[in-house]
Amino acid sequence: MRNVYFFGAGKAEGHGGMKELLGGKGAGLAEMTRIGLPVPAGFTITTECCDYYLKHDRKLPGSLRSEVKKNLARLERVTGKQLGDSRDPLLVSIRSGSARSMPGMMETILNLGLNSRSVEGLANNTGNPRFAWDAYRRFVQMYSTVVMGLPKEDLESKLRALKARRKVKIDTELEADDWKQLVQEYKSYFKERAGKPFPEDPAEQLWGAIGAVFESWLAEKAVTYRRVEHITGLLGTAVNVVQMVFGNTGENSGTGVCFTRDPSTGQKSFYGDFLINAQGEDVVAGIRTPMHLVEMARRMPKVYKQLERARKTLERHYRDMQDMEFTVEDGTLYMLQTRTGKRTPAATFRIAVDMVNEGLIKRNDALLRITAEDIERLFYPVIDSSVAPQELSLRRLASGINAGPGAAVGVAVFTAHEAEELAKQGQKVILVRRETSPEDVGGMAVAQGILTATGGKTSHAAVVARGWGKCCIVGCEELDIDYAAKKMTVDGHVIRQGEWITLDGTEGVVYQGEVPLVTPEMPKHYFTILQWADEVRQIGVRANADTAHDARKAREMGAEGVGLCRTEHMFFKDFEQPELSTERQLAIQEMIIADTEPLRRQALDKLRPFQRRDFAGIFREMDGCPVTIRLIDPPLHEFVPHEPEQQKELALKIGVAPEVVARRVEQLYEANPMLGHRGCRLCVTYPEILEMQVGAIIEAAIECKKEGIKVIPEIMHPLILDKKELKFLDVATRRVADEIIQRSGMKLEYLVGTMIELPRAALLADEIAEVAEFFSFGTNDLTQTVMGLSRDDAGRFLPDYLDESKAAILSADPFQTLDQAGVGMLVEWAIKKGRATRKHLEIGICGEHGGDPKSVRFCHDVGMDYVSASAFRIPIARLAAAQAAILSPRKHRAHSHH
Ligand code: PEP
Ligand code: MG
Repeated sequence: MRNVYFFGAGKAEGHGGMKELLGGKGAGLAEMTRIGLPVPAGFTITTECCDYYLKHDRKLPGSLRSEVKKNLARLERVTGKQLGDSRDPLLVSIRSGSARSMPGMMETILNLGLNSRSVEGLANNTGNPRFAWDAYRRFVQMYSTVVMGLPKEDLESKLRALKARRKVKIDTELEADDWKQLVQEYKSYFKERAGKPFPEDPAEQLWGAIGAVFESWLAEKAVTYRRVEHITGLLGTAVNVVQMVFGNTGENSGTGVCFTRDPSTGQKSFYGDFLINAQGEDVVAGIRTPMHLVEMARRMPKVYKQLERARKTLERHYRDMQDMEFTVEDGTLYMLQTRTGKRTPAATFRIAVDMVNEGLIKRNDALLRITAEDIERLFYPVIDSSVAPQELSLRRLASGINAGPGAAVGVAVFTAHEAEELAKQGQKVILVRRETSPEDVGGMAVAQGILTATGGKTSHAAVVARGWGKCCIVGCEELDIDYAAKKMTVDGHVIRQGEWITLDGTEGVVYQGEVPLVTPEMPKHYFTILQWADEVRQIGVRANADTAHDARKAREMGAEGVGLCRTEHMFFKDFEQPELSTERQLAIQEMIIADTEPLRRQALDKLRPFQRRDFAGIFREMDGCPVTIRLIDPPLHEFVPHEPEQQKELALKIGVAPEVVARRVEQLYEANPMLGHRGCRLCVTYPEILEMQVGAIIEAAIECKKEGIKVIPEIMHPLILDKKELKFLDVATRRVADEIIQRSGMKLEYLVGTMIELPRAALLADEIAEVAEFFSFGTNDLTQTVMGLSRDDAGRFLPDYLDESKAAILSADPFQTLDQAGVGMLVEWAIKKGRATRKHLEIGICGEHGGDPKSVRFCHDVGMDYVSASAFRIPIARLAAAQAAILSPRKHRAHSHH
């Protein structure tokens, strides 16, 4: 096994495709070296070593020491310098980097190789003792905190004390001797706390640093970040040992971060931040607010041109927007990192479409690049445009840099810890900090939005927020934050912890109070992408919609029909005429309480016009598209009150004795209602319910047809377990439907089919298909019944099954992502059996899985005709279906059955 990969002098042993093994940074450095960009030389220790180290009681893999020694010698040859040399020493940085970017979560040590001899060498060689001693004290400081775990604050207070003694405000005013003295102070502090002197031997320093970087994989902040980001299955972090280049040698040096396109808008303009005379993490840490690249172009035109060339090379090479780190040392440019840049949702769509139009990528590449999260994030709220501009300007507190999209409302909270506490209690919070650090990720994750007083678009807060698509404003310098008093002051206004503020992350403006938010308009590139998706996908996308309103929304989102209308969802509320809700509710309750058939029919007659109107509304919205309507499904006790008070009230309203209601509710009690008197079993017992519902469906269809609307009704029976059962209901359904059609003198086609929600139905699908004209997999119930997991109770223990630090028995929540191994096996079987009986059996899915990308891929692969999902998941299903078609094309596009 090889543990170390070298890069330098135009050659690299690794390459960009080795992210898992070399981490994103290591792979990027190797690739940039290969394509001829200026990269300092170095080597990468693999993530496998980290895995080994953490699993073997902090022991290093056998050959690692000799490999590192060999590669260090090679680095010394390539650079012509030696670690620890007293004339012209080699210095290295030790940087972490895993396969997935985890901004600032793990450790870095700079200037390694300095000791009391080599610092003199650096001073002589650069002719700049101030610089050399500053570099040394930075190293001692980082080593003490990162490797020895000494408190940062102790070291920083020594620096503050020194500045106070020297009566200076900023670091750059300190002299070489001051830094020299601070190094001595740090070292004696180190000796006192560590019980041994600060290491002089560069090899000892190096191994200490390597161990610390490995160790930082398990640091609390890193673990939290991975949990929040759902990052699993990685080996650990790689360690990059890279020749130091210095951005802090003077006015002709600097360090920066840039993006090949604007990460906020996606516009094809070079975007970046640059700090003159600064080292390493100064930009990312967001402590000083940097200058824009335009300014850099003015101050260092030659270097800027070189950087602009690197931008073009990298984008053409990676065919995606890159996020690069670079350093300028005395007028020479060095590229330190490149990776695919995080971007706002709007930028994601724009960049994908632009790159297709520029010929950089193909349409299919663009489609594969967009994720479900990208789509979800487009729907983040913005400030309601109906809020008067005068009111907004009255509420305006301050403005900063717009770093994360959308708007957010919450109470101001000044520590991450308290943000977490309050969010746990259900409070909406805005985390307000001078700057954020990786320790704050827990609080950032639960906050509605993040506001910082310092930093640019590449600061920690901005990078993390953008990755999460979270509203964020940084560099809001007008804020005067007082952590101790838990308040901030802006232009005379005081905002205390717990007071409401609103952030407009798109514009970068902070408002006082709670400003109303709405869902935004979609950017035009989103429509382009979804249109492309529709052109390539091979299965249909329908909606789970219960009302005309839902159906309209679903059409807007691109649904091609209704895959599931849960009729009982309209029993309790009249969405068109809310004032009639009570009347409906009473009708259904009266029907349930009735203990004779005639009384039940009486009540059902009251409900019928309501249902007819509901169905007609949906048919109108779905003109030309199929509408699958499911007959009543839940157990009846769900519709009647269980409290004596409410039972009395109901009795009064429907004109029966309170005991009648109480008795009937008691009769309806079931020990296990999910497996009880529900689904089609209700219509087996009470055919009059079926008559009412089928009647309402067909009457509505005829009414709409008369208006010239193309109606395609599909009547669906839930929870079927047997062919005979379905046949019984099918006969009843057709008798009612055909009689109404005949009476109307019109022609109307309709389908009668079934849900497949029980294992028995799946197993006997060939028999069931003799009756059913279509199947719709109800994978919510099918998951419940196949896995023996109660949908309503599994939430209590499923987290343990998913937790990586516990058993990790399941890799995903089976109610979100279809369990392909078990439930999927039955689905495949049922499709095969069903189509063996009826070649062109229409097959879809209407469980929640219809809107889950992985499950959509499965549905495509097993030959379903369509998936059905709730309205807001429809764009995600359209995209997922397109991706499935690209990755595993089917011979035929699913055909329409009408
Ligand atoms: C299902 O079981 O998957 C389904 C769609 O029906 P419901 O969720 O209403 O039980
Ligand atoms: Mg169900």
